[in-house]
Amino acid sequence: MTNILIIEDEDRIASFVEKGLRAAGYATVRAATAGEGFEYALNTSVDLTVLDLGLPDEDGLRLLSRLRARKFTAPVIILTARDAPADTVAGLESGADDYMAKPFSIDELLARIRLRLRGGSAEEPTTLSAGQLVLDLHSRKVSVNGVEHELSSREFALAETFMRHPGRVLSREQLLEMVWGYSFDPGSNLVDVYVRYLRAKVGPDAIRTVRGVGYRLEV
Ligand code: CA
Repeated sequence: MTNILIIEDEDRIASFVEKGLRAAGYATVRAATAGEGFEYALNTSVDLTVLDLGLPDEDGLRLLSRLRARKFTAPVIILTARDAPADTVAGLESGADDYMAKPFSIDELLARIRLRLRGGSAEEPTTLSAGQLVLDLHSRKVSVNGVEHELSSREFALAETFMRHPGRVLSREQLLEMVWGYSFDPGSNLVDVYVRYLRAKVGPDAIRTVRGVGYRLEV
């Protein structure tokens, strides 16, 4: 199983990332300080690291330089509130493979993780199937009984979320968090709007409304 180390001191963000990664089938380890992260990175098997820069005991970039100096070779994706171009350059020069500014959505993070893991030891499948639906994770198209449909990036993220939890009821709040990220207003009707878009492509019965709770992908 692909193991991802999350080094992030802010509990809310660490939990958000952890939940999203686990829902996508990854194993996760969390470290709230640079010291802890350093130990986990060097002493456990880590396939990829998500690293916050503002850590309480050491700057994330310094930690990264120390890890690279110790021959820690797994891909590192930096997460930070800093988004100035100079910081991006510094991050990449310290040995980061990618850089994401907060706030970010979990589907964007997952897409970057997949990209960084590709060619490595990842056992990510390239398609997901449920019932009559097949979702191609590379072309980002869905086929329904063999007929292909293009998806927008949000529709794809929503379809992927449903297909990773077939038959399970997902609440609007869960879907908002998994597809759009934690920065969204829970009162938003985005989920309903996008479920409607998706139904127009995959058929009206594939995604059932569970009254007062949320939605379920039928299998
Ligand atoms: Ca922080």
